[in-house]
Amino acid sequence: MKRSEPRFWQSREKAGKPTQTGIVFFPAFDWAISPTHPEREERLLYTRDQLFEEGIMDLPQIREYQPRLAELKDIARVHFCVPSIEAQITEAHLVAAGGALVIADALMNGEVRNGFALVRPPGHHSMRVTHGNRGFCNINNEPIMIEYLRKKYGIKRIAIVDTDVHHGDGTQDIYWHDPDVLFISFHQDGRTLYPGSGFTDEIGGPLALGTTLNVPLPPGTTDTGINFVLEELVLPVLEKFQPELVVNSAGQDNHYTDPLANMRFSARGYAVLNERLAPDIAVLEGGYSVETALPYVNLGILMAMAGIDYSNLYEPDYQADKFRESSDRMRVLERIVRELTTVFDNREALVAAAREKHDQFARRYRRIFYDTDYIHEEQQENLRMCPDCPGYWTIDSQALHQVGERYQVYCISVPVQGCPRCHKDAVELYEKMIAAPDRRFDFVYLQDRVDDVYRQFDVTRKQERVL
Ligand SMILES: [Zn+2]
Ligand SMILES: [Zn+2]
Ligand SMILES: [Zn+2]
Repeated sequence: MKRSEPRFWQSREKAGKPTQTGIVFFPAFDWAISPTHPEREERLLYTRDQLFEEGIMDLPQIREYQPRLAELKDIARVHFCVPSIEAQITEAHLVAAGGALVIADALMNGEVRNGFALVRPPGHHSMRVTHGNRGFCNINNEPIMIEYLRKKYGIKRIAIVDTDVHHGDGTQDIYWHDPDVLFISFHQDGRTLYPGSGFTDEIGGPLALGTTLNVPLPPGTTDTGINFVLEELVLPVLEKFQPELVVNSAGQDNHYTDPLANMRFSARGYAVLNERLAPDIAVLEGGYSVETALPYVNLGILMAMAGIDYSNLYEPDYQADKFRESSDRMRVLERIVRELTTVFDNREALVAAAREKHDQFARRYRRIFYDTDYIHEEQQENLRMCPDCPGYWTIDSQALHQVGERYQVYCISVPVQGCPRCHKDAVELYEKMIAAPDRRFDFVYLQDRVDDVYRQFDVTRKQERVL
């Protein structure tokens, strides 16, 4: 297979034109939901063995890095953790997120041309407000890395392509109001799989319409169908969006042997996808076919990223003739590609129409279910329809936690592109809320992305924590 031509986001100037692919491994030996749970450390141990066996780790194209701990502030930049960051994480979470940060630094320092963070626990079901574990995730590794990149290196436009079989609903939620982060997720149709969302009409908040795109794939979709979506939708949209960086949420549960889903993607399909997508950074998400698929898929992704020939890569049990795409599925995919291309191409008009429709604030009410921790959250969100920036927003969130404690919190978020007026109004609102606190709330938060300051006020104790 011939490697595709380098595209604009690969051809940008990087110091010294690095040739290596960075890799971080963190299997998190001491973190599991339960000993027999599919989200356990063997997921990465088999992969590690396979990579060593194939001699991949000794190749000059590969450079291994050790993970480090992410800081609490890295998490506060993305999440409102209830009741505290510490209550939502273990050390393993800090190392998994920190592993992604190590790859981000290596890329930006010009040491590697791309990188793959093979870390767990995963993150893409974790939303902006986090009351507990959803879909095996407490905090979201890719947004933590992206907001770190924005803060430290001033990166502005980023695209995330989520190739996990489950809808990346947490990442979607975090970037719902952000027109500078393009989020594209393809996943098994939410009518047939957790978390039950990710339909074509979920296209972003009123001031960021068209920069969230969801492709619900019919169960049974093969390499052919997924590559069709990649070539006809994902790559053309990326060319138009012109991101400075492309991040891949590299879930591997589209694989035909995955026990939690019903897709028919192969390790080779994943390698082709990665070669074509050419992400700057891939971060591992799900994938639960621990012995059969994961080692091969990770191997395929790594070979593609490092530019190593993968033409002999086949799973021992792969039979190409059993994996033909059906014309019914292709028709569904053609319709989705047409629909989403139209949405993306008309995003400015969609935002203009939303401005006409809403006055000062756009509201939404939502219920969010945390399957792992069995928490029901209710949210009331208010977005300022700012003419000068993507607007600040507030979230009134309440949930009954597993331990029997009910929390109600008030969160204020100023986006990284926040204009002086939104910034000032949001800070004043927070100051007012803590000067005369509404007793319904346990905590009031300010996420000030303009000044990179994160404040949390404990209403009962009248104490503030600033990160
Ligand atoms: Zn998944
Ligand atoms: Zn504004
Ligand atoms: Zn500020």
